[in-house]
Amino acid sequence: MGWQTDDGKHEGWLAPTFTDGALGSGWSHQGVLVTRIGERELEYEQWQHRPEAEVTGWVTACECGWRGLPWTRVTAPDDQDLAARRVYSPDADEPQGIHDAGHAEWKEHVSPYEILTEVADLSHEHAEVGRRLAEAVARARAAGASWTDVGSAAGMTRQSAHERWRSVSSA
Ligand SMILES: [Zn+2]
Repeated sequence: MGWQTDDGKHEGWLAPTFTDGALGSGWSHQGVLVTRIGERELEYEQWQHRPEAEVTGWVTACECGWRGLPWTRVTAPDDQDLAARRVYSPDADEPQGIHDAGHAEWKEHVSPYEILTEVADLSHEHAEVGRRLAEAVARARAAGASWTDVGSAAGMTRQSAHERWRSVSSA
């Protein structure tokens, strides 16, 4: 019912909330599916269906445990004030006007994780390049290149080249 990061580690949705801290995680003809109350995950046998009328607000939630700021459900259209996070919605399933804002909050929450995925990918590539570089140095040394030659090719001093790669070069 929600949004997911590429690695599947974060899954967000606009969750209906109840006075006792219960959080909706799905919908069916039976009503709002509740699988957790506050921080507590309910056992499967304890899962509940509650009437839409009992929904008192919404919050952007993520499977990792992160929660956005809450919206309060108001009962009269005139009481709606989105800037103050008061929402009038006869239909608790698709509250009007806050879906995009909820998604934006969640995108902001996952932004560092998405960049960290890039960091992890690049680190992996970096290590791979490092291995290939060490191999090439070993081959150059075996073919007769001096540490001065290796340093010059790698853009560093003879001394730095020797310190970095002496363990991969037998000579
Ligand atoms: Zn998350």
